[in-house]
Amino acid sequence: MNQSPVWHPFTQHGLGDPTPLIDRAAGACLYDADGNRWIDAISSWWVTTHGHAHPRIMAAIRAQTEKLDQLIFAGWTHEPAETLAAELIRITPAPLTRAFFSDSGSTSVEVALKMALGYWYNIGEPRHRILVLEHSYHGDTIGTMSVGERGVYNRAWQPLLFDVGTIPFPHEGQEQATLDALEAACSQKPAAFIVEPLILGAGGMLIYPAWVLAEMRAICARHNVLFIADEVMTGWGRTGTRFACDQAGVIPDIVCLSKGLTGGAIPLAVTLCTDPVFDAHYSTDRARTFYHSSSYTANPIACAAANANLEIWRDEPVQARIDALADAQAAHLALLAADPRARSPRRLGTIAAVDIVVPDNGYLSTFAPRLIAFARDHGVLLRPLGNSVYVMPPYCIAPDELAQVWDTIRASLDAL
Ligand SMILES: *Cc1c(COP(=O)(O)O)cnc(C)c1O
Repeated sequence: MNQSPVWHPFTQHGLGDPTPLIDRAAGACLYDADGNRWIDAISSWWVTTHGHAHPRIMAAIRAQTEKLDQLIFAGWTHEPAETLAAELIRITPAPLTRAFFSDSGSTSVEVALKMALGYWYNIGEPRHRILVLEHSYHGDTIGTMSVGERGVYNRAWQPLLFDVGTIPFPHEGQEQATLDALEAACSQKPAAFIVEPLILGAGGMLIYPAWVLAEMRAICARHNVLFIADEVMTGWGRTGTRFACDQAGVIPDIVCLSKGLTGGAIPLAVTLCTDPVFDAHYSTDRARTFYHSSSYTANPIACAAANANLEIWRDEPVQARIDALADAQAAHLALLAADPRARSPRRLGTIAAVDIVVPDNGYLSTFAPRLIAFARDHGVLLRPLGNSVYVMPPYCIAPDELAQVWDTIRASLDAL
């Protein structure tokens, strides 16, 4: 195990934890070469939506590899990207008219921030301040760490992170304080407010109501502050609707999508924006070009996978699966409600979470690695955020598989 030269993400190799070698995946399950099975209760880090190796997405990838693998996207284009952009614009609210592709959630957020700052720069009223919500997570690049919560996971780089305005999280009963703080911050003419709509993922699956999201959007509109929705995690059905903003009737100026964009099969991201943001860069003056690119921008194979994802949304009963999973999650959560060791049971759409009462709260709680190991030994892939355990499975998970996940969590409370 220690012979491997691979340096894994968010992994302390010094702890010597085993690293299972996965050979194949199907539906909600992962398998090693010996036939051992794990239920993927966190959708392989929130990306797999319909299930692993969905036949339609796999077929689309195979077909695309026969035609066009990769193409420079500056000044050239291809059918999979054109189809995908048109379809994304069709299924999102009318004011969103342009699609800028990149290759990860972090890059889609970097693009959103650069678009927002570019907007103000190009209309001749430069603004540089970004407002963020407390406990946010938007990625692990220097820019996206800057707009995220500061903590042990980014302490080494803190001197490099740019300053932002932080709005308190709208905890229950304190929503008005959040809105008042946003109102006050917006009057200082910041460039943009970036937010994870309805649920803060990496921050601990913190849920807030749709009316607060709608109010935050209205405040930004009133003050002419660009509103950026980071739907990288929330998009593609996780919260019960295709996009979280749908539940609040919110139309952002800029939207970031990734993770489930290809059904979770292959990396791709897109940043959607409105006419004013695009038009601020539209000119015969080359100096006003939006200077951003990744080598693999709009990779044709990834776009083909995303088009297959959109076909699945169109042709298969995806919403019905999401509704059924949401109901099943609610039922399992209810079974834990009376357990004094599980606090704040909460759910938004298909995502369910509880906080386990442990002596050492926080991200470095020793509970997390012990639960990960316990679940791994019991055929379940879990990865709590500190002492917050969440279940976010692919929508195809079978009732008995979901029951095994929750049985494992309950058993872990007794065992640990
Ligand atoms: C995962 C995530 C990101 C970063 O996406 P990557 O593809 O890991 O770069 C950004 N924002 C949110 C809300 C996320 O959950």
